[in-house]
Amino acid sequence: MPNYLFQMIRDRIGPPDDRIFLQTPGGPDFSYGDAVAASARSAAALSALGVKPGDRVAAQVEKSAAAVMLYLGAVRAGAIFLPLNPAYTLAEIAYFLSDAEPAVVICDPDRRGELASLVAKAGAPLLETLGADGRGSFADLCATQSGDFSDAARGPDDLAAILYTSGTTGRSKGAMLTHANLASNAATLVEAWRFTPADVLLHALPIYHTHGLFVAINTILFSAGRILFLARFDADECLALMPQASAMMGVPTFYTRLLRRPDVLRRASAHMRLFISGSAPLLAETHREWVERTGHAILERYGMTETNMIASNPYDGERIAGTVGPPLPGVAVRIADPETGADLGRDKIGVIEVKGPNVFKGYWRNPEKTAAEFRADGFFITGDLGKIDANGYVHIIGRAKDLIITGGFNVYPKEVEAEIDAIAGVVESAVVGLPHEDFGEGIAAIVVRTPGSGLDEAGVRSALENRLAKFKLPKRVIFVEELPRNAMGKVQKNALRETYKGSFRSG
Ligand code: AMP
Repeated sequence: MPNYLFQMIRDRIGPPDDRIFLQTPGGPDFSYGDAVAASARSAAALSALGVKPGDRVAAQVEKSAAAVMLYLGAVRAGAIFLPLNPAYTLAEIAYFLSDAEPAVVICDPDRRGELASLVAKAGAPLLETLGADGRGSFADLCATQSGDFSDAARGPDDLAAILYTSGTTGRSKGAMLTHANLASNAATLVEAWRFTPADVLLHALPIYHTHGLFVAINTILFSAGRILFLARFDADECLALMPQASAMMGVPTFYTRLLRRPDVLRRASAHMRLFISGSAPLLAETHREWVERTGHAILERYGMTETNMIASNPYDGERIAGTVGPPLPGVAVRIADPETGADLGRDKIGVIEVKGPNVFKGYWRNPEKTAAEFRADGFFITGDLGKIDANGYVHIIGRAKDLIITGGFNVYPKEVEAEIDAIAGVVESAVVGLPHEDFGEGIAAIVVRTPGSGLDEAGVRSALENRLAKFKLPKRVIFVEELPRNAMGKVQKNALRETYKGSFRSG
């Protein structure tokens, strides 16, 4: 049996020759030949460390070409790749390690000291390092390995990756993604978005998330195209490099920031083939302004960690602002009554449910949660509220689970509330996302304090600093006498959002 995903990549890229796969500004280029050899060395290094098929390989590393080779190496070794956001705190990492029990943890050399004791506590897996500059103990080990590796046999249903996604209870769940989930979605996106070997994708997304990792990298591998790989999003750098690219994938924040440089943008984007947006709602206003400034209609699509990509505005047909387009070929989408699960048909708002080869296998070691989020007929309950219009286009209305998306990052209010409630002098709190010019949503915490506690905004923020990743920290803390509640005792978050909606008006 071949390695299902990597064999498909091999078939699609053809002979691993000197066509460029990954280009980093100022760094060395990786040809397809280099990438196959470098990922072989990563796979061989993992095997030398004792990693066996089915073992988890956790990576909390900065974005780099070496990190991409680590992902491919893990797949080739038959392991399950587990990328972690470099912004995660030690407390957060401790949870992921205890839940996933990886065989090896690979971190940035600068983090080795603080992670060492934590990793030892999590059952003493191996700790290796890999820096964005290509240095580290794992890089050293790779350098001694052969560029030939016999890929571990893996079937379509075997796991290729676990991506942790936040849970409504505040605890992250590991979404188990199979070789077939990733392969089917990449093949679908190549067709839907017309990627060819002539494409050069401007890549400024993080690679610990499904968007930058699978949507971007797998789609390019499946089309034998090229990636122009930036360490992070910077509007000026993107504009400077855009003339070398043919397509860009971004979160809405990329687009709003690029729009602030209208003159450069028009020239830089003139020759581009495609701009794609996802991970959070793109304001219809941004869509319109982009058309005005560049002449291009941004193609908005919809997906999630558990399902890969679900729906996309068409390449050839009309790209309608405020919609995410029809379901992708091979993906079934229905709108259901959240309580009964009954199919509501067209133009009715309900919960979006999805079925297809793209949908994940379940939550890692969490059969109860898995069972709770699938219908008996195999449809996955996304938790997003939406409708399908008469033309078959999907509209996302809101998030049933009150998920906050700030700058493209997902934050579950519950997780932040739990940390705030633990602060001395706090009675209770409610965390909501409020409209924010730059981030889409900005996090605000509405807090009730114990009388005479003297707690202030700075006190709450500093207490949270080492507990939560920076993107989860509230940008505003508002103190109130009591939280608004309904007859059932539930906090009325809609009322809070309405009352405080102007809090980030000035940006
Ligand atoms: P993640 O699992 O981090 O990819 O987040 C998935 C969630 O992001 C979805 O369930 C949606 O709530 C949201 N999302 C993704 N794409 C869009 C979009 N184009 N418009 C609105 N929300 C989106």
